Formats: sequence, structure tokens, C-alpha cells
Amino acid sequence: MPSPYASLQRTEALARRDQLDLASYDVALDLASDDATFGSVTTLRFTSRAGTTFLDLKPVGLRSIRLDGHPLDVDLLQRGRFPLMLSEGEHELVVDATMPFRNDGEGLHRSVDPADGKNYVYGMSFMDAAPTIFACFDQPDLKAPYTFHVRAPQDWVVIGNAPGQQVEPGVWEFQQSQPLSTYFVTLVAGPYHVIRDEHDGIPLGLSARASIAADLDKDADELFTLTRQSFDELHRLFGIRYPFGDYHQAFVPEFNAGAMENPGCVTFRDPLIFTSRVTRGIRVFRASTLAHEMAHQWFGNLVTPAWWDDLWLNESFAEYMGNRVAADVTEYAEVWVEDSYSRRQWGLVADQRPSTHPVAGNGAVDASAALQDFDGISYAKGCAILRQLNATLGDEVFFKGTIDHFEQHRFGNATMHDLFASWERAGAGDLTSFTDNWLRTAGPDRIELDRAAGVVRRTPPADHPADRPHRIRAAVANDDGTWTDHVLEIEEPETPFDAGDHPVLLDPYNDTWALLIPDKPTMDALESLLPQVTDPELRAGLWSNVRSALHNAAVDPVDVLEIAVRSLPIEDTEDTPRRTMAWVYKWVVPLQPDPAAALAKLHAAARVRLDAATPTSEEQLSAFRAAIGTASDAALLQSWLAGDELPEGIPLDVDLRWRLLVQLASLGAVDLAELDRQLEAEPTAVARVRHAGAHASLPDAEAKAWAWSCFTGETNLPNYELEAVGLGFWRGGQEELTGSYVERYFAELPDTVKKRSGWVLADAAEHFFPRTSVTRETLARAEALIADGDLDLSIRRRLVDEADTLERKLAVLEAYPRP
Ligand SMILES: [Zn+2]
Repeated sequence: MPSPYASLQRTEALARRDQLDLASYDVALDLASDDATFGSVTTLRFTSRAGTTFLDLKPVGLRSIRLDGHPLDVDLLQRGRFPLMLSEGEHELVVDATMPFRNDGEGLHRSVDPADGKNYVYGMSFMDAAPTIFACFDQPDLKAPYTFHVRAPQDWVVIGNAPGQQVEPGVWEFQQSQPLSTYFVTLVAGPYHVIRDEHDGIPLGLSARASIAADLDKDADELFTLTRQSFDELHRLFGIRYPFGDYHQAFVPEFNAGAMENPGCVTFRDPLIFTSRVTRGIRVFRASTLAHEMAHQWFGNLVTPAWWDDLWLNESFAEYMGNRVAADVTEYAEVWVEDSYSRRQWGLVADQRPSTHPVAGNGAVDASAALQDFDGISYAKGCAILRQLNATLGDEVFFKGTIDHFEQHRFGNATMHDLFASWERAGAGDLTSFTDNWLRTAGPDRIELDRAAGVVRRTPPADHPADRPHRIRAAVANDDGTWTDHVLEIEEPETPFDAGDHPVLLDPYNDTWALLIPDKPTMDALESLLPQVTDPELRAGLWSNVRSALHNAAVDPVDVLEIAVRSLPIEDTEDTPRRTMAWVYKWVVPLQPDPAAALAKLHAAARVRLDAATPTSEEQLSAFRAAIGTASDAALLQSWLAGDELPEGIPLDVDLRWRLLVQLASLGAVDLAELDRQLEAEPTAVARVRHAGAHASLPDAEAKAWAWSCFTGETNLPNYELEAVGLGFWRGGQEELTGSYVERYFAELPDTVKKRSGWVLADAAEHFFPRTSVTRETLARAEALIADGDLDLSIRRRLVDEADTLERKLAVLEAYPRP
């Protein structure tokens, strides 16, 4: 079943780029007429060479298209493309269309806040959704300035890429923007709560839904401070002023990504405005995300990749610069430690999969294929490699080349070749070998200690041969519990290294990009060593090595559980899906001989820590969360929910209340009616998502059938709820109820393209994968479907990745058989 729209091929983009020169877009949107659609009139001015090309347009209704004043036949629109036959010279195209409000986080997304019934809209044009907002030539290297005119309900505020104002009630006029690629054209509109400020001549803004206004107010100082500090540092490093006028940061509902760097109007997922108590890890993440989007204003927005195969020029640079700026000039100096915990494994796991690809030149043939490469390789690995390159070149050459690149291609497009030419002009020397080995070759080297041979061994991946030098530090544990660092230059397959019988961690400080697997004596010692490791960088590196070892079946999961129990419940100050505690739930517990007993052990450890923690501390909050997530005693959870026996210093907020309810639901200790009552009592966006997850977690056939109807699309849910349902559906211990759905997943997955597209299509394929069925049969089913040539590309990619995870889990179970 093909997608209803054609995905832009690289060859088509090249031809269209050669044919057209865009002068301007003028876009008039009417958001006030109804709730399901909006009016969109686009006037494009451009110069063309003679020939045929096409316009991108995905409307629900097309009233008229006029080329140079002459009407064209609207019925020629097919699969999102309108063919154009152009003579040489200047043209004006006017397209009058009706566009759909969408509810999948793309295009012009419209949603209703359950807390107060208010409607909110925002635009997400990335990466091929612009034609559902306005008619355009949708490719990154056809830039033009935009002028927007918007009619909106009178109580709405409207914010765009360029400064705008309300000229009469409900009518908004915007200044002409700088030249923009289609993919970062946006609009944020609704009864948003807005806070304004100014820094260094740049007008600043923050916005969020009215129902979370107080939470935005609470953090506004912090957000503005981070913004000011990051602007100052980016200006200092680049020497080029932020060029897009205002800088507005909008926190918007049901946003698929972490954030999107739209020039002048960045959009963030609004769970980053905290409505409950959080721990510091998520604040660190928010700070680095904020700086990441600011770095994009130069890398991506001022100079834009010509095509999606240079995605890394956006993401790897924004990730590196964002982390660096946040670490160097904000209060969140521990960004690199957070990166080590949460981003590095994301990249390493992706880089070991069959779907791995080079950081640069990912070979994207069309836009939808490119979307699949927004993965840990384009972000975390690219960032690590740029950090290495910066260390090699030094700041002076690194930024001299970067600034040259910005100056040469200001408001235009460029390629990797252009950037390397700039670096060479800046004195970087010949970077060919670096580029070939690190950026153009996929996969990580595996680096291990061979104690018997007295060497450190470097092995490139068999499918992706390379010759990569590594300069790393090895931390060797002394008998007194301290660690000594040794610098190792690894330039050959074998490098002599004698650590005696001491435990050794290779590259715990992330000096290079490689897969590091601790040897057996080290692993055996970690159980007692880890709780005493206080250096946060070393501790994070240690956990990263443990995770790599389990993913490669190089350690018994029983031993990993012991390490976790001994150092838990707080390995870290929070539990986002990429952090250690979430990983323990996903990887360590299910691979135990007795997962229920493993959870009980973790629970006991969490309770000990909870009792010892200082009231109101983040450590206490983390311990309490871990105690909830591991609990099997419904009476205990009920008493906490009722507010009895709560630890002093733990008020029940919406987050904790729903953690308790989800856990109770998974145990079958609440019913749907009670979940509904809880939602009605406090109907916030956060509660609605958790309610969906709790519903899907209930161990009864009716709840599972409902959850499944969400997967197939028979029941339509927005993205966050769909994700929560997928995660709740497959639960350890509920295999009798979910067993028959394993086969159904593979049978029914291909047809989900009839109900969804883009991000949610691929995300649902991942979230509903039958992860509790760790068997060879399930793997065989996955492989059979992967081999189906008709399968949607983005679904296949997720399936390949999930099959890889399953295969790795099977390898662990087979390497460490249960009695
Ligand atoms: Zn980014």
C-alpha cells in the first residue's frame, strides 16, 4: 500500500533547483472559519527556465490555481503534486486552497486542551508537511522570503518566523522574513500565554497553553537566562549576529520531536514545561535542547544543507554546539555527563544495528527515507566526532572554518564539501582520511582489553572496514578504591597494555567513539566498585560500558541486576526513557530467570534508599519513583495514593499520582471506572496521556482489545496517548492476555499506512512491537515481514531495529541459559 503522496526524490529536487529561482512567498491563512480546515492562499513569485516542473500541494480542497493570471485545471493535482509547464522568465502563481488542520504533530496541528477546552494551533513544516499548510516548492534549497497574513479568532495570539502584529481584532500582519527553506516555516496561534523580554537588541518571547501559564511563569527566569547566556556565547564563538529578528520559544502540545529550530519561532514539546516536580536530569536536557535549537539558527537556518543526505550538518553540529554552550556558560555544567548517560548509548546502539549508516552522506534518495536517519547516529555519534575534530583542530581553526562557511553561504545552502573546503582554507590541512574513516564509514570499532595477551585490541566492524586511530584514557582501579587514568594511543589492531589484575575501564570519559566492553574480571569487580565511584563522568562511562556489554551478550544479566541493586535506586537524578533506570526495566529485568523476583529485589533496594533520603530531596523523589515502578504490593500503592504513609517531603502531584495509578492498573488493582474518575478530577493533558497508558496496562481482555484498536487506527488517538498505549499494552506477566496479538502485530502492521503517516506511523510501529515475546518465532515473523517488498519504508526501518533488539536479547538468553 503506497503512501497517498509521492515522496520527493533527490533527482527531482536537483532538476527543480536548476530550473527555478524563487523571489518570494506571500501566504494568507484564514484560521477562523472552522475547526477542521483553514483557508490558504499562496502567491509565489519566481523566475523559471522553460520546461515542466511541479508544485507541492496537499489540500483537502483546491479552489483555483492561476499562473500569470490564467486559471489552470485544478483536476491536474495528483498525489500532492501539481504539474506546471513554464516558459522562460518571471512568473506569478496564485493558489487558493482549503487545507486540513492535522492532529498528528505535522502540518498545522490543532488540538484541544482537555483542561479548559481551548484550541491551539502550531505549524510543523518539517520535513515534508509544508504543502499541507501552503502551496510550495518543498525542498531545502529553494529558499525565499515569506510574508504572512493571518485571520484568527479574536482571543488568539499569532506568532511566526518574522515579527508581526495584530492590525485589527483577529487580523495579523507579518513583516517579510529572511529567506527561509520551506521546512522551517511555522506559525503558532491560539490563546497562548506569552511572556516577553529582550536581550542585546533581540526581542525574546516564551509561550505555552493558558492552562500551564503558572508553570511557564515559574520557569521563565531560568529559560530567559539560558537564552541570554547561549546567545552571548554563540555570538562570541561565531562572531556573526543572530539574523532572524525576534527569538520566540513556543512550548506547544503534542509535539513529536523534542523541538524544532524554526528561525525566529522555535517550537518545543510542552512536557518541557513542568507541571509536576522533576529532577535535575530533565532540566539539563531542557537546557541543552534550548541551546541546540539556538545553534541551529546558524547551522541549518542561516546556512542550510542542500539535501537531506547532509542532515548531519544540521543535527551533529547543533548537538555538539548545544552541549558545549550549555556546559560552558549555563548553570548546567554537567551536560556532557548527561550526554554520556542518555545520548551515547542511543547512538552506539543505532551504530551497531543492521540499519547503521555513515554520519555524513547517508545516501537518502528521498525525503521519507531521510526522516529515518534522525537517529542516534546523526545526533550523538556526529556530536562525538565533531568533538574529536574540534580537539584535533583547536578552536581557532575550527571556528575560523565555520565562520568562513557561514559567510560564504549566508541565507543559502551548502554541502559537506563546502564546509571542508572552508576548514581547509582556515588551515585544517588535509581532512580526507578523517572524513573517510569517521564520517563516511558506518559502525563503531570494538575496543577490548585482552589481559592474557597484554594488549588492547581494536576491531572494526566486519561489514564496514576502517582504520581509525583512537586516543583514549583507560581508568584502572587501584586496591584502595581510587582510579588512575592512563593515556592510550591506539593506532594498530593491537596496542600493548598491562594492567595486572586490576579492573580496567576503557574510555570512560568518551574521548573517542567506540564500543567498549569491559572484560570479565572488571565486570566481576564492578558490583562492589560501582557504589563507591563518585566521579560523575567515570560513573556514567562505567554504566555505558555495562550497557554495551549486555547488548553484546558479554555479561550475565544476573550480574547486571546485582550491579543495579547495589547502586540503586538512584544511579542518576531522573528517569527519562534513555536513562539507566528505564534501561533496567527494559533490558535487565525481562532477561532475569525470575523477573518478578528481580523487581522485588530492586523494590527492596529502592525502599532502603527512600527511607534514608533527605525529605524533599531529588534523591528522595527518584527513590520514590523507583519504588512505585517496581512495586507489586497493591495495598502499599493504594495507601500511597490515598495519601497515607507517604514519605515526609513527597506531596502527590499529577505525575506521582498517575505513576501510582499506572502501576496499580498493570497489577489489575484499579478498574477503568476509577481511572476515568481520576482523569475527570484533574483533566490535564499530562493526565490524559497517563490515563491512556493505564487503560492499556489493565490485565483484562477488553482493555487490550481497546488498546489494539488504537494501534490499528480504528480508535484514533493523538501521538502521546498512542505511545503510552503501546508501552502499556505489552507488559511482563500479561503474556496470556497478549499472546495472540503477537501474530496480529505482524499481520496488521502493514495496513497502518492507511490510517497514519510520517512520525506517528513509524513511532506506532515501534511502540506496539511485541517486546515481551522474546522468542525465535517472533524474530522469524519480524524477518519475514521485513522481507516483504511492499512494506512502507519507515515501518520497515523500525521493524529492522526492533528485530535487532530482539535478536540481541535472544543472544543473551542463549549465552546465559537458565537452569
Ligand atoms: Zn536539531
